[in-house]
Amino acid sequence: MKAVQIQKHGPAESLAIVDVDMPAPGPDDLIIRVHAVGVNRLDLLLREGSVFQVPLPRIPGTDFAGDIVDVGVNVDSSRIGERVFAAPILSCGQCGHCLRGEDNLCSRFGTVGSTIDGGYAQFVRVPARNAMALPEQIDYVRGASFALTYATAASMLRRGRLAPGEWVMILGANGGLGYAAVELASAMGARVIAIGRTADTDEALRRAGAAAVVLAGPNMAEQVRELTGDRGVDLVFEHVGAVTFEQSVASLAMDGRLVLGGVTTGTEAPMDLKALFTRRLEILGCRGSGRRDLEHVRDLLMRDLVRPQVQQVMPLEQAAQAHRHLESGVSLGKIILTV
Ligand SMILES: [Zn+2]
Repeated sequence: MKAVQIQKHGPAESLAIVDVDMPAPGPDDLIIRVHAVGVNRLDLLLREGSVFQVPLPRIPGTDFAGDIVDVGVNVDSSRIGERVFAAPILSCGQCGHCLRGEDNLCSRFGTVGSTIDGGYAQFVRVPARNAMALPEQIDYVRGASFALTYATAASMLRRGRLAPGEWVMILGANGGLGYAAVELASAMGARVIAIGRTADTDEALRRAGAAAVVLAGPNMAEQVRELTGDRGVDLVFEHVGAVTFEQSVASLAMDGRLVLGGVTTGTEAPMDLKALFTRRLEILGCRGSGRRDLEHVRDLLMRDLVRPQVQQVMPLEQAAQAHRHLESGVSLGKIILTV
């Protein structure tokens, strides 16, 4: 079968188009014929090998949609033919965390497309519980556009205890995760300040629910303080990491919380410890999303309450081009590869 592999760390050009054996299902697995796969920032980080390292070669691709074509001996064979999308998080499915729908806390946590091969391929093998029903009204392209970003955003906002009426500052708002957070936070009645990388996306971010848009930069915190009457925000939605962290902390109000769900620009950042105790701040980490977040966002998508933006659809063979485009970081919306 045709697939795209990360064989060595490096620039987008190092992605290899390969012909590999079709996967066979283990007893509890199934095989999905992939129709569409979303390109995520995570795929770029895996390819670069800077923040996350996985054994290579690896087929990336965490968000994908397609049809079940084969199942393992322990899996109900009536699922063959079912339209599905991938649940991004791998977990045991049996511990207390998993049973509560908080798979992201499971001790056997992993991610499809990094711990195991993902969807940049014609066929992919996943544990049966990672194939979730894709409702009829959601096509494959949209089915590959929301699971990772929207579920992670929902999980982070829940961890950050965002409440209606509160101010929230959302970093990287023209990226997939940030955009999802803008939609979800404004839908729940929070006041959103979106931090963008270019003025071109201001209008789209306002349409998605942002009350104000601020350009990323060294004066970010100052502008956020002005917008909130010198108060600061109740929650910062942070996933950019090293480059923005100091400004993020400086933007927080008294009793403010910062939820950190990623470190795209690096893992080391200075921390103002005086601000931490005098303003009674909370720094909360958040890893991935749980089944309950995924079901929640699938429900919102079905009810048309969130609308993932698809910027471009291109064939799998153009994966390197898609990575370069996402790396430029200035556009808004998902890039989806069709297989
Ligand atoms: Zn578990």
